[in-house]
Amino acid sequence: MALRPESWLHLAQELPLGRKARRTHDCGPGTCLIVEHTELGWSAWCHRCSDKGWKPKPLPSLQERQARQAAKLAADEAIRNDPVPPMPPVFDVQQWPLAGRVWLYKAALFVEDIEKLGIYYHEASNRVVIPVLDEGKLVYWQARCIDGKGPKYLNPVVEKGSVLPRYGSGDCIVLTEDILSAYRCGMAAEGWCLMGTNLHRTLLSRIMRDGRPVVVWLDPDWDRPGRPGQAAAAEVCRTLALAGVPHANIESKRDPKMHSRAEVAAYIEEALQRARHNAAPSAQAQEGVPAPAQDRQPASL
Ligand SMILES: [Zn+2]
Repeated sequence: MALRPESWLHLAQELPLGRKARRTHDCGPGTCLIVEHTELGWSAWCHRCSDKGWKPKPLPSLQERQARQAAKLAADEAIRNDPVPPMPPVFDVQQWPLAGRVWLYKAALFVEDIEKLGIYYHEASNRVVIPVLDEGKLVYWQARCIDGKGPKYLNPVVEKGSVLPRYGSGDCIVLTEDILSAYRCGMAAEGWCLMGTNLHRTLLSRIMRDGRPVVVWLDPDWDRPGRPGQAAAAEVCRTLALAGVPHANIESKRDPKMHSRAEVAAYIEEALQRARHNAAPSAQAQEGVPAPAQDRQPASL
């Protein structure tokens, strides 16, 4: 037995390619029907009927495959060039695909954190979107791919150094590569996200005006040749030293966001002690802002 096509096929065919959704079925109330649109066809499963449906697609021609690929690239590009984040949002975490939730749970974010950050799922692009607010105003967003199809992140095109995601407050500033790490560090100090590994000139000016010691906590990159995160951290520390900013580097076991809350707090506390200890009389401090290292590719999550 299989579900009658007229009870589900139109629902599956309404979905954009690659999407899955819960719908009502003609067998009764509630969204017990799961429909999906894949490369190969349309499928359904009803929890109440305990039965499935399947309708294969004719195999696409090379031309059709190329057209599809081009359409996907164009859709990604349109998202990237739009200053407004992808809409509509799905805020209810329970309605997200598992892969979207797992990514955030692995970074030790609870549902409350996800809500607090306003993170949501966008069904049409199958991405999880992190909005970035500055004094309550939306200034940036990042849409992370969760199915491995397409670029890992989409985000609006902005001038480098113009967006500074900041979280929490404390005795020191902690510089991280990615937004979730900055948020996690913001539970123990003030987390600033570099949006990559380069300390942009405008951020350095802000640090110098701020006056607090700085803890540099980029990804350890133990598994990457040349350990780009730590090479970049050395450059950031050098720049901070030239500017006379008390600072210390953290070389942790894992990326900051992958450590427990207690570990994050302990790492930062230890580094802050070192930063204070190293705060030599600013004989090395120079007038003005030293030139930053050249831009690097943002590290991946
Ligand atoms: Zn049913």
